[in-house]
Amino acid sequence: MNDCCYNPAEKMLTTDEAIQFLLERSHTTALTEMVNTLDALGRVLAQPITSTLNVPPLDNSAMDGYVTRYSDLNAEGETSLTISQRIAAGYVGDKLEEGTAARIFTGAPIPEGADTVIMQEQCQQQDDKVIISGRVAKGDHIRRAGEDITEGNEVMSVGQKLRPQDLGLIASVGVAEINVFKKITVAIFSTGDELLMPGDPVEPGKIYNSNRYTLTGLLQKAGCDIIDLGCIEDDLDATVDAMQKAAEQADVIMTTGGVSVGEEDYIKLAIDKLGSVEMWRVAMKPGKPVAFGEVNKTPFIGLPGNPVSVFVTFCLFARPVLRTMQGCNDILPRKFKVTAGFDWPRKGPRREFVRGQLVMDEHGQQHAQTYSSHSSGVLTSTTWAQGLIEIPENTSFEKGAVLNWLDFSELFS
Ligand code: AMP
Ligand code: MG
Repeated sequence: MNDCCYNPAEKMLTTDEAIQFLLERSHTTALTEMVNTLDALGRVLAQPITSTLNVPPLDNSAMDGYVTRYSDLNAEGETSLTISQRIAAGYVGDKLEEGTAARIFTGAPIPEGADTVIMQEQCQQQDDKVIISGRVAKGDHIRRAGEDITEGNEVMSVGQKLRPQDLGLIASVGVAEINVFKKITVAIFSTGDELLMPGDPVEPGKIYNSNRYTLTGLLQKAGCDIIDLGCIEDDLDATVDAMQKAAEQADVIMTTGGVSVGEEDYIKLAIDKLGSVEMWRVAMKPGKPVAFGEVNKTPFIGLPGNPVSVFVTFCLFARPVLRTMQGCNDILPRKFKVTAGFDWPRKGPRREFVRGQLVMDEHGQQHAQTYSSHSSGVLTSTTWAQGLIEIPENTSFEKGAVLNWLDFSELFS
């Protein structure tokens, strides 16, 4: 992150420019390790998984019932067949004798010669015979070999952040250990003389440090290891010291607060001493002051101090950087379309990310509502919300307008 492209005095970046800027400067931490597939939830695959087998391996029954040759069934009325064998899941039966049926259970391989399974609800067992009635079609209730996965196919690609169903699929092709990218370590600290830690007694003029908790949760959700350097006072030497420690220990440094250019904001001054700061103002609400840079080649992301701004700027800017570093192939969150359940009469020059809830009206139509306060200090808006509604720059609209929706489930994955 060495070349400085933007002079903050001249221009505010749009949100898209800021994301672009960041992605151009982010790289995958290419280190990998082998882990047990069972321990790989949330990890990012570093080597593709190619199946060495068909899944399922053999044609097998999709039902509990009886299996026979279709040609041995009467076209009309009932058919009575001798039960020649019993095949449970996990066992391979013998070749099916002509004019007989085999008792078969879900998942059991279809015996050679047989081609049709009749579910047990259509069958009646009488001693060693089964009486089959009702409609049967040739090939019924058979799951074909390779129907799910074909031998030689790549079932999972590099960059996949592994979800529960991904682990299941990898296991289904018999792979117990996989190669994943190493977790990235993020060093964090909060800044501000006004901050108390939860558990400390209340003091006049002080507030509790909520950002530390929000940021920790966001990073845990993102699958990062965290080095927490605590709360740093508003002082240049202390900030430089913390920044240096962070750069020595972590893959990324992330801070909250102190990022503006006020007299009590020391982040920029500290990084100016140690490395470079790239960018300062993004035309968005909440969260205008955001800093990106590097300290001894360690990327640095300085989030604002206001609690809602921390939350939103993390989701928009820090998350894509982290995902790139983690080796993910899916960097930006998917945006869904929602209908506004509110008017937005005033146009603003900055893109807004207001906290939203999806509600159903009396006609069963879903629309997005916003919280009563848009203030970047009102953290309650984020706990009330299920996602962010994106309101474009210089736009006003009435109820019913279609807007982008960033769902929290997407942002926390
Ligand atoms: P700053 O960017 O440092 O000027 O902070 C902006 C606002 O966010 C101020 O009202 C701070 O008190 C508040 N703030 C900063 N850090 C935190 C924190 N860790 N927890 C809660 N509020 C904070
Ligand atoms: Mg401050």
